[in-house]
Amino acid sequence: MEYKVVVVGVNHAGTSAIRTLLSQNKDHKVVAFDRNDNISFLGCGIALSVSGVVHNVNDLFYSDCDELERLGAEVYMSTEVVRIDTDKKEVIARDLKTGEERAVSYDKLIYSAGSWPVDFKVENRDLQNIYVCKLFQHASELIAKAGEPEIKSVAIIGAGYIGIELAEAYHQRGKKVTLVDLQERVVPAYFDKEFTDRLEKDIRLADVNLVLGARLTGYVGGSDGKVKQIVTDHGKFDADLVVQCVGFKPNTALLPKADKLENGALKVDATMQTSIPDVYAIGDAAAIYHAATGTYRHVALATNAVKGGVVAASQINGLKQVRLESITGTNAICVFGNKLASTGLSETAAVAAGLNVASSFYADNDRPEFMNDTEQVGVKLIYEKETLRLVGAQIGSYGETSHTECIFYLSLAIQKRMSLLELAMTDVYFLPHFNKPFNFIISAVLQALGLTYMKNG
Ligand SMILES: Cc1cc2nc3c(=O)[nH]c(=O)nc-3n(C[C@H](O)[C@H](O)[C@H](O)COP(=O)(O)OP(=O)(O)OC[C@H]3O[C@@H](n4cnc5c(N)ncnc54)[C@H](O)[C@@H]3O)c2cc1C
Repeated sequence: MEYKVVVVGVNHAGTSAIRTLLSQNKDHKVVAFDRNDNISFLGCGIALSVSGVVHNVNDLFYSDCDELERLGAEVYMSTEVVRIDTDKKEVIARDLKTGEERAVSYDKLIYSAGSWPVDFKVENRDLQNIYVCKLFQHASELIAKAGEPEIKSVAIIGAGYIGIELAEAYHQRGKKVTLVDLQERVVPAYFDKEFTDRLEKDIRLADVNLVLGARLTGYVGGSDGKVKQIVTDHGKFDADLVVQCVGFKPNTALLPKADKLENGALKVDATMQTSIPDVYAIGDAAAIYHAATGTYRHVALATNAVKGGVVAASQINGLKQVRLESITGTNAICVFGNKLASTGLSETAAVAAGLNVASSFYADNDRPEFMNDTEQVGVKLIYEKETLRLVGAQIGSYGETSHTECIFYLSLAIQKRMSLLELAMTDVYFLPHFNKPFNFIISAVLQALGLTYMKNG
């Protein structure tokens, strides 16, 4: 069956949907709009470009308008969708260069308008050299600033994964970096104290000024109109450049009647359909059923965006078995010598979500001590006290080897609602080159169950 499909927003989610739609069925008429002038920019490479690991920021694109048009889509860039009439099944889009508006009808709408960085309304926000971090355009500015000798100090607001990565990158470029967060811990949404204490110590050892529990109240500028300091309730700190990294808000104002979370994310079912007929929402605009909480959650990750595109397109193409039943928010960060991954809920987040949980933290050498070298690894499992159902896991890997990919099977365990008793009997390999007879995850499970016979330390 062929449809007229309109796609609103063509970045990771939209690109994935268009590619899937047209590779499965070339006969659809696909019309796509994006207000930006580029497609598929990988924000994950911004900090790596600032530090110099990525030499050419243009390498961070994996698709473009031409590719999608070759597949058969009509793509209008620099064109903003300004209204969606879901009763008439019509989209109004405005060409941002000419101001001209066009109305396009649809059979199916894929809404992939993503998110935008949260900004502060604080004193002197309009000074120069204060940025948010998302687009290729931001990346170009942030990379250029790293090379300017007059930029001596950098303040990063927000110690989530983007903020810490940028703090490390500017530190590596020789800048004096201050990293500020309102919370008392870094990456508090994903990791508990067992991991954040060590990460905070390593950030400070690198001579980054880490200021936690501090609220940004404004900026101080010079006579040149450029920022010179940030002002917090913990004092003022020098900053010739500021990057605000305090989270993302879904761009969903165009669908006022749809069911949403409080932050505006559109609730979707396992087929990515919103509460409005024939309207699918994917990527950062969507809130998906979270396996750990059993509620809808907004988890802004490219992994969810790309999967959502595959699912929405497959559903439109009649492949009804392709569904996204749940997410767990699996994520990783590699900073200041800490390789960390987490999935599901941290213990703090689980308690905040009202779950009755316990946890098991296990730290050990990764390989048997009779091997020539070993590296430290830690795992924390969070589980429901009554059912022993796994609801969260964190892995810290400290050395050359990364053990973080073990998080994938723990993510699957959460999606499949497995209990620690099932996890304990997972058939994992043992090879001295790689791990111990009872690897660190199984050991953490056994510890939680009180079945420890392999002594830790
Ligand atoms: C610095 C950084 C690092 C990241 N690192 C990682 C990582 O390592 N791993 C990971 O999984 N995720 C990472 N992410 C998150 C990831 O980039 C997002 O989850 C992803 O971009 C979401 O894709 P999306 O297509 O849903 O939304 P977006 O990327 O927000 O794209 C939405 C598109 O819609 C367009 N649009 C919006 N409104 C309209 C309108 N009215 N009309 C027309 N077009 C519109 C926008 O111009 C945009 O192109 C990172 C994000 C950033 C910013």
